[in-house]
Amino acid sequence: MQIGKMRIDPVIDGEVVFPGTEHYPGTCVADWLEHGQFLEPVGGHPLHISTIGGYLVRYDERVVLVDAGGGPSARMPFAIGGFRSSLTSLGVARADVTDVIFTHLHFDHVGWAAVEGEVFFPNATYRVDQRDWDHFCAPGYQPSPATLAAVNSPDDLFTVKLKAVEDRMEFFLGEQEVIPGISALEASGHTPGETALELRSDGARGLLLGDVVHAQPELMAEGPGGRHQWRFAPHTDPARAADSVDRLQRMILEDAIPFAAAHFAGLRWAALHRTDKGLVWEDLG
Ligand SMILES: [Zn+2]
Repeated sequence: MQIGKMRIDPVIDGEVVFPGTEHYPGTCVADWLEHGQFLEPVGGHPLHISTIGGYLVRYDERVVLVDAGGGPSARMPFAIGGFRSSLTSLGVARADVTDVIFTHLHFDHVGWAAVEGEVFFPNATYRVDQRDWDHFCAPGYQPSPATLAAVNSPDDLFTVKLKAVEDRMEFFLGEQEVIPGISALEASGHTPGETALELRSDGARGLLLGDVVHAQPELMAEGPGGRHQWRFAPHTDPARAADSVDRLQRMILEDAIPFAAAHFAGLRWAALHRTDKGLVWEDLG
C-alpha cells in the first residue's frame, strides 16, 4: 500500500485459525457463512484466519514497525515465528528499524520486541500509549491463562520481553502525533491503551486499526443490533471497545479512508463503501 510517500508492507509472523463463533458468542455459523469471502473452509468447517505480524512503514529516513508479531516461541494453536523471514524478504535488517509503535501490549503484538532478554531492534525507539504500559507492567500483573498457555517458557512471557525494552520506551497518551506523519487515535476498550494509527503523507491518509476489530464482519455491521451481535468477547472494556469501533467505522465511511487491521487475513488493506444494498467491502491488496 502507498499512502502519499509512505510505503506500507505487511510483516507476517504466522497465523492462528479458529471457528469465528468462539470469539464472537453473539454469532452463529450462519452469520459467518454470510461473510464467506473472509473464511477458509478447512475440513468442511468455515474457519476464520487471524494473521499475526505487523506493518512496516517506510518514508523519508524512517523505517517504522507497527507491532512486532508473536515471537519465535509461541505454542499451537499459534503457528507463528516467521517475522524475521518476512522482514528479510522486504530487504530490511533489524538494525534498520528506527521506530517500533505498539498498538497495544498483548503478547501477539510484542513477540519480537526482545528475544532471549535482548532488544531485537537495536536502533529503534519503542512507543506505546502510557495506559497500556501502566496496565500490563504494573507490579503483580498476572497474565491470563490463555497467554500463559501460549508460550513455552516463563522467560518468553511478554511481560519479560517488555522489561528488556523498558529503557528505550517512549510513551504517548490518547490522541497525539507519535512521530511526524503518524498520529495516535483514541481507540481504547480492547485494552486500556489500545491505539489506532492515522498515517498522513502528501494529503493522503490511511488507518491502521490494531485490534479495534479482529474480523471483517465487525465493520460490515451497523446499528445497535448488528454491532451487539458482532462483539468480540475478550475485550477489557466491551462498551468502550464498541464505541471505538463505531467511531472509526464512521471515520472510514465519511472520510473514505483505506484501512488495515492487526489480524485480517494476509494483513490486506480495504475500503468500505455505503451502497443501496448496504456496506460493501473492497479489497485493496
Ligand atoms: Zn492481537
